[in-house]
Amino acid sequence: MAARRPPISSELEAELFAANQRTCCICHEPRKHVQIHHIDGDRTNNEWENLAVLCLDCHSRVTGDEGLGRKYKPEEVTLYKERWEVACEGDDDDGEDEETEGDEDDDDDDEEDEEALYSKAREFIIRASDHQAFPFRLSKGVRFVATVHSDEPVDITVASERVYDRWDDGEEVDPDVSEEDHLEATVEFIPPRTGTFVLWIENNDKKAKATVSLDVTIWPSEDGDDA
Ligand SMILES: [Zn+2]
Repeated sequence: MAARRPPISSELEAELFAANQRTCCICHEPRKHVQIHHIDGDRTNNEWENLAVLCLDCHSRVTGDEGLGRKYKPEEVTLYKERWEVACEGDDDDGEDEETEGDEDDDDDDEEDEEALYSKAREFIIRASDHQAFPFRLSKGVRFVATVHSDEPVDITVASERVYDRWDDGEEVDPDVSEEDHLEATVEFIPPRTGTFVLWIENNDKKAKATVSLDVTIWPSEDGDDA
C-alpha cells in the first residue's frame, strides 16, 4: 500500500534539518533523535510547509499512537514548526531576517537604542468560537510585547505552556496576562523564569470570524547591566 510514496529528497531533508538545527520543533530538546513528520497526514505531500522535524516522543504525541497524553492538532504543529524555524534562523545570524524591521545600522554607542531579540508581524483568521495559540521560548526577564488588532473583539492571554494546556482542556486557569474583548490591545509580559509560554487569542463570537494582526517583539532583559 505504501508503493506510491514519493521519498523526501536528500536535499530537502538536509535543508529541513538545517532549518530546524536537527532539533524537534515542539520540545526543542537538544541531541534527541528526530524524524520528519507530514503535518497533514498525507505522506505524499512533501511541501516544505507540510514537513515538521519532530523527536520520537513528540511524534507519537502528534499522531496519538501512544494513546495517552494530549494530541497536537496539525495547526499547532505548523505553529511550532514556523516559530522554531524563525528562532533557528535568528541563531545562525546570516543576515537574512525576513520580517524584522529596521535594518539600518546607525553606529550609535547609545545603549538605550536596544535591539529587539525577536520581532515578527503576522496576520491570520480565527474562526468563530475558536482560538489561535503561539508558543514562545522565553528567557527569564525579557520583555515580551504583543500588539493585536482585530475586526472582531478578541481575548488575549499569556501564560506558561502548562497553564495553556490546562485551559485548552477546559479547566479554569489563572493566566499571567488576560485582556478581554478588545479590537486593539498591547500586552506586556516579563517571564518570571525561563520556559515556554503561550500567547493565545480567542474569538468568542459564535458566528463571525475574526481577521487578526499580531505583532510580537521580544526585548532583552533590562536588569543585565545594573547588577
Ligand atoms: Zn520533541
